[in-house]
Amino acid sequence: GIGSGKSTIASMFHALGCIVANADENAKQSLQDQDIKEQLIAWWGENIVTKDGDVDCAAIAAIVFDDESQRLRLESLVHPRVRKLQEEQFQTATETTKAFIIDAPLLIEAGLDEQCDAIVFINVSLETRIKRVKSSRGWTEEEFNRREAAQLPLDKKREKADYVVTNEGNLDEVQHTVGQILEDIRMRQLKKS
Ligand code: ATP
Repeated sequence: GIGSGKSTIASMFHALGCIVANADENAKQSLQDQDIKEQLIAWWGENIVTKDGDVDCAAIAAIVFDDESQRLRLESLVHPRVRKLQEEQFQTATETTKAFIIDAPLLIEAGLDEQCDAIVFINVSLETRIKRVKSSRGWTEEEFNRREAAQLPLDKKREKADYVVTNEGNLDEVQHTVGQILEDIRMRQLKKS
């Protein structure tokens, strides 16, 4: 869920020797591709580009958050590029790489779960998540609700998960749990191979 600590926990996996692909960052990066930029301008006009020639992420967000059909159209353009960037990041693996991590709020919605051996759900109360994004990003509760409504309901995500990490407070405890999960995933893979 939004503000649950996916990126915080992904960075713990990174510190343990995993390669992390951040789907949101890759999506932002893909918006600056020339081909994608041209397609977006053809759909929505020059106003979606800043005076420096970069795609204006806030303008795009304003279009797609109010209109599901536009959001789906954007996703079908951007998702293949996000997968390619992710693939390039994973290609940098060495013998010491422990696992590949996809940090993505829309993991299941985008079908990226099919590439995964394990799914980790970050369990945090709605109240805490809203408090976190209010203080870290200055979002209003309405903004939070609007964005969350565009995602699969949390119970559906939780149902698909192999591991659930509670991230309400103490990050040391979470760090310990993350280490255990990584070991468990690696053991399961060893047994399979
Ligand atoms: P989004 O879905 O919006 O990308 P996210 O799930 O990746 O968010 P983070 O960006 O990792 O979440 O965390 C949201 C905010 O909460 C950040 O400011 C982060 O530092 C803070 N945070 C994460 N975990 C904890 C914790 N255990 N205690 C206190 N603050 C936390």
